[in-house]
Amino acid sequence: MDQERSRIAADLNGLLDGEVRCDDLFLQLYSSDASIHEIRPLGIVRPRHVGDVANTINYARENGLAVHSRGSGSNVIGGCLGKGLILDFSYDMRRIEVEADGTFVVQPGAVLASVNRELKRRGFVFGPDPATRSVATMGGVLALNLTGSHWARWSNWKR
Ligand SMILES: Cc1cc2nc3c(=O)[nH]c(=O)nc-3n(C[C@H](O)[C@H](O)[C@H](O)COP(=O)(O)OP(=O)(O)OC[C@H]3O[C@@H](n4cnc5c(N)ncnc54)[C@H](O)[C@@H]3O)c2cc1C
Repeated sequence: MDQERSRIAADLNGLLDGEVRCDDLFLQLYSSDASIHEIRPLGIVRPRHVGDVANTINYARENGLAVHSRGSGSNVIGGCLGKGLILDFSYDMRRIEVEADGTFVVQPGAVLASVNRELKRRGFVFGPDPATRSVATMGGVLALNLTGSHWARWSNWKR
């Protein structure tokens, strides 16, 4: 690991509860997505909660680093690749919670198909249904404004 990556790993490990990786294996794993592109990042953060996300963003801002959000990496345009810090939401931020009043609270790493499984039990559906729904995360769905073959059917999300 080079000096810059060692420093970043040490700094972030002191700031975050989630995992921070700057070793060659992880850099290689996160250098690609479902596209043909390949970009080696500085490091990978797997935030455990929203506080980790905020601390990563603040650290990146203070140190002039770019941040690249990542879900399941199934996009085909290299959208979640970059030379900065990869924020991988799919590992530890995938909780789906239903509050007492029926409100759904979904973390960005939750997979669309899992969200819809929970919604279906209550008679609801979240409209976008891309072919990658069994792997696409809610962060990826919202960031790319995903559609799917039934987009015209759901004018709102209530069945
Ligand atoms: C075979 C195939 C079929 C497809 N069919 C369709 C289709 O029918 N309709 C359709 O619309 N798309 C389709 N796509 C596109 C695909 O569904 C999406 O690109 C993908 O599933 C997005 O989810 P992801 O979790 O993999 O996101 P990723 O690939 O990880 O990220 C995609 C983008 O979202 C951003 N992002 C991810 N998480 C966050 C977050 N938490 N906060 C901010 N930004 C975030 C990333 O930075 C990146 O720019 C298809 C792709 C394939 C390979």
